[in-house]
Amino acid sequence: SKPIVAIVGRPNVGKSTIFNYIGKNRLSIVEDMPGVTRDRIYMDAEWLGRNFTMIDTGGIEFETNDKMLTAIRNQARLAIDEADVIMFIVDGKVGMTTADDEVAAILRNTRKPVLLVVNKVDNMKNEADIYEFYNLGLGDPIAISATNALNLGDMLDRLIENL
Ligand code: GDP
Ligand code: MG
Repeated sequence: SKPIVAIVGRPNVGKSTIFNYIGKNRLSIVEDMPGVTRDRIYMDAEWLGRNFTMIDTGGIEFETNDKMLTAIRNQARLAIDEADVIMFIVDGKVGMTTADDEVAAILRNTRKPVLLVVNKVDNMKNEADIYEFYNLGLGDPIAISATNALNLGDMLDRLIENL
C-alpha cells in the first residue's frame, strides 16, 4: 500500500491549507477519540509520479491551552504510530511557540523522517524567519507559503526523497 504522510502542528499554522493544496481526492473522515482530535482526513496525493496518502489531523478549537497541548501531543504520537513520514508545520509569522517545542520533543524520539516546514513565509525576503526553528532539533527547516504557493515544489521534492 501507499506510504502515509501525516501533517501535524498546532492549530492555525496552515495544515489544512497545505493538505488541500497537495491532495487530489478526499478519501474518508475517520472519527477519533473525543478530546484527542475530532477527525482524521485521509487524502490521496502524488508528486513526480510518487503516490502517497496524507493524513490531516485535528480541526477543532480548544477551550484551554492545556487541552490544546494535550491534543497536539496525542496528534504527534498518532502520527509516529501511523505515518511513514511526518510533516511538522510551524508558523513563520508567529515564530516558535511552546506548543511547537512540545510537539518537537515528541517527534525527536522517532526514527521516522520528520520534515520541518515553516509556513506563512509569504515573501522569501523574510526567509531569515526560519532560523529560530533550527532550535527544534529536527534538521533543516524549509520555508513555504501555502497561500502564495511559494516553495511547495521544493517541499514536495524533500518529502518524496523520504518516502
Ligand atoms: P490549520 O489549523 O493548521 O489547519 O490551519 P489552516 O489551514 O486552517 O489555516 C489557518 C489560517 O492561516 C487560514 O486563515 C489560512 O488562510 C492561513 N494561512 C495558511 N497558509 C498561509 C500562508 O502561507 N500565509 C498566510 N499569510 N496565511 C496562511
Ligand atoms: Mg486544519
